[in-house]
Amino acid sequence: MDRRDSRGWVEVICGPMFSGKSEELIRRMVRYQIARIPTQTFKPAIDDRYSQAQVVSHSALSVAAEPVPDSATLLRAVQERTVVVGIDEGQFFDEGLVEVVEWLAAAGKRVIVAGLDLDYLGRPFEPIPTLMTRAEYVTKSLAVCHRCGGAGMFTQRVIASDELVVLGAEGAYEARCRYCYTPGEFRQERLAL
Ligand code: ADP
Ligand code: MG
Ligand code: ZN
Repeated sequence: MDRRDSRGWVEVICGPMFSGKSEELIRRMVRYQIARIPTQTFKPAIDDRYSQAQVVSHSALSVAAEPVPDSATLLRAVQERTVVVGIDEGQFFDEGLVEVVEWLAAAGKRVIVAGLDLDYLGRPFEPIPTLMTRAEYVTKSLAVCHRCGGAGMFTQRVIASDELVVLGAEGAYEARCRYCYTPGEFRQERLAL
């Protein structure tokens, strides 16, 4: 590789649940693997919904992945020879992920982060929004609104829980468009307005 090819950058794939973020991450990683470019894919150890050693999409595509507990461990796990670093469920990492991603890009890695840009109440879900400001390429994926078929941009929780993280329990979330999204609807304690 010549000097120009060894320059890194950052790509972010964001959007609600079911919008195809993992699918798109898997597509980009597999594409590099076919070209025999060394890749490593990571996911937060918190997310063991489908498989420990893989990122799996809702449409059952998969790529091998290393579960890591935090961003510092991720950084230590990246090998010198790795050119492309994929990270799924970026919103479940600590805020140190921003610095780690920038450090990797500065070291010549192409870093692709997928994650939710909004939480179930429609609030920015760090560290994804900050990563979007530091990325060369941002892809915002949309799902199909479960109610009306429109542009699904939000993740609607459809079970009663006020926890920030309720891991994708089957039936706990739906993608919704801005017209069908009702963030507070299923909160246990409704805010008195
Ligand atoms: P994400 O990582 O964004 O949660 P995935 O890549 O795991 O999404 O899954 C995307 C796939 O989920 C789609 O290709 C489709 O097969 C399926 N899917 C289920 N519900 C929806 C929906 N409401 N809109 C779009 N795709 C959906
Ligand atoms: Mg996903
Ligand atoms: Zn809708």
